[in-house]
Amino acid sequence: MISRARLAALHAREAQLYRERHPRCAALAQQADRHFLYGVPLHWMSDWGTPTPLFVQRAQGASITCADGHVHADFCLADTAAMFGHSPPALARALAQRVQEGLGAMLPGDLAPDVGALLAQRFGLPYWQMALSATDANRFCLRWARAVSKRPNILVFDGCYHGTVDDVFVDLVAPLASDPASSAERPSATPQARTRASLLGQVYDLTQFTRTIPFNDLAALRAALADGTVACVLAEPVMTNVGMVLPDPGYLEQLRAACTATGTLLILDETHTISSAPCGYARAHGLEPDILVLGKAIAGGIACAVYGFGAELAARMRAAKDAAPPGHSGIGTTLSGNLLSLAALQSTLQDVATPQAYAHMLRMAEGLEAGLLATLARHGLDWSVSRVGARCEFQFCAQPPRTGAAARAAMDHELEAALHLYLLNRGVMITPFHNMMLCCPDTSEAQLARLLEAFAAVVAELLPGPQSP
Ligand code: PMP
Repeated sequence: MISRARLAALHAREAQLYRERHPRCAALAQQADRHFLYGVPLHWMSDWGTPTPLFVQRAQGASITCADGHVHADFCLADTAAMFGHSPPALARALAQRVQEGLGAMLPGDLAPDVGALLAQRFGLPYWQMALSATDANRFCLRWARAVSKRPNILVFDGCYHGTVDDVFVDLVAPLASDPASSAERPSATPQARTRASLLGQVYDLTQFTRTIPFNDLAALRAALADGTVACVLAEPVMTNVGMVLPDPGYLEQLRAACTATGTLLILDETHTISSAPCGYARAHGLEPDILVLGKAIAGGIACAVYGFGAELAARMRAAKDAAPPGHSGIGTTLSGNLLSLAALQSTLQDVATPQAYAHMLRMAEGLEAGLLATLARHGLDWSVSRVGARCEFQFCAQPPRTGAAARAAMDHELEAALHLYLLNRGVMITPFHNMMLCCPDTSEAQLARLLEAFAAVVAELLPGPQSP
């Protein structure tokens, strides 16, 4: 329905508009380019679809002010790290005090008992450990799972992302096969697991120990676990990094049952799906993971992640650790569990990620979902909208995808880039790389209206109408 020529023209116009509105960002990009690879502190900061990176001067609540002084309604929220708003006042106060009193000592802070109790109470798991990022937490959990089970393999879902954990960068890819009819190459019917092509510097064949199956495929799940060599399944309860893929009704319960039946540990990574409810998706849906991982927003955006587990697994972890010779274990970093992270965790759990905050976030996201659907219906546009709590995603396919492959197939990078830039030029920021929008406790009705208005306007411009060429 969308003409590529029209899309290209819109994108070129929006890129020009962005350049005109962001001279200071362009100057900063030029200066930073002298000493930063790609001109940015982290290379993927240059992968947003803007002509030059948007340099941030200030981030507060649900708004980001760029170096050119434009205030953007932020629906990206640092890809979840700022899910409870940028610099929530209670967190800012707690951190200001902590900064005066020491940042880290490689010893437990005296807040530890209170923070442990807050975590146990909220998420229903009695034992916890800390890490600096969700990436690290996931990596540590894989190590624990292999240590306690003495099994070598892990299982993940095609299209997953759990941070830069090398083990899980395995995709299901349809290999090219010779087509006898045309002597051309065509994708063969059966996808095979491959180390992700974009993983730089990887010399190991990761498929040796990592199994990958489609999400929502029960037969594939049972087959992959059948030989009893899989230490753990690492999964998001809703896939959120390949666009959004919701579980079929009953699938997660079947996943739980299949893991239990084969002695496989179930690790649920709720770094993103904590958008569902204060206690996360699993607890809200009565699911009992063996290990629960939380990062990014859990300490209000301060570098911190946690993972929790039950008493039986804790005993197995102790036994594995006690049986190992002393020395580096690889299950922690110097700054893990530092005093600042602990203070941030306490403040976020106690004063920031409150039921009232969630009530507002969910109400805003419901309005967002309804508004997007109304625009799509008005134009007869066959895109789908999925939501998990405060997190909402539109995808360029008629039905919400059921697998990572279907979600990947629905992606349209040209369309996405033009659309995101259009929104940004109208003061609305959404997550780059796919179409995720998140609402925080500070998201206002006016910001929501601005997003929905800009979305409706860009859709109207893109579709053939009276003004078509
Ligand atoms: N788990 C999930 C589900 C994620 O989406 C991400 C990052 N997007 C991570 C883990 C890793 O988080 P971090 O980059 O903060 O380590």
